[in-house]
Amino acid sequence: MFVLARQIAASIPAGLGRVVSGLGQSQALVHLIGKLRRLYLVTFRRRYVRRQIALRAGLCRQCGRCCALCFTCPALATDRSCLIYGKWRPRSCVAFPIDRRDLDDVRLTGGACGYYFPDAQDDQQTAPPEQPEPAESR
Ligand code: SF4
Ligand code: SF4
Repeated sequence: MFVLARQIAASIPAGLGRVVSGLGQSQALVHLIGKLRRLYLVTFRRRYVRRQIALRAGLCRQCGRCCALCFTCPALATDRSCLIYGKWRPRSCVAFPIDRRDLDDVRLTGGACGYYFPDAQDDQQTAPPEQPEPAESR
């Protein structure tokens, strides 16, 4: 029963998010689903979260976009710093982004997270552009 509940909870948010996006429904609803998904993952799928964080590359640009998904977090300061950083910051914030669905959530706001997942097979659009090879000196 517990396993089934986990599977349902894991599959519904992603699937529903895609359906909702496809129907052109509210961005806030997609972001709410993302919040619930992350809450579920950091609570019940900690191994997955650890693995994803190990795979993750890039850096936080401190754009604050992940703090304004669905609603603007009351702990977000005007300079885009987190007022509770290092104190009570929720695990879902500490772990963000967990996977490319979180990157998609940020992209939906018109921004781009500084992190990416280089090993994701379908993650071409989130990886930073490749640098051109330096020209050989002759
Ligand atoms: S969206 Fe990404 S880059 Fe921006 S603050 Fe959040 S984690 Fe950092
Ligand atoms: S608690 Fe901090 S890191 Fe989390 S959403 Fe709010 S401002 Fe952002």
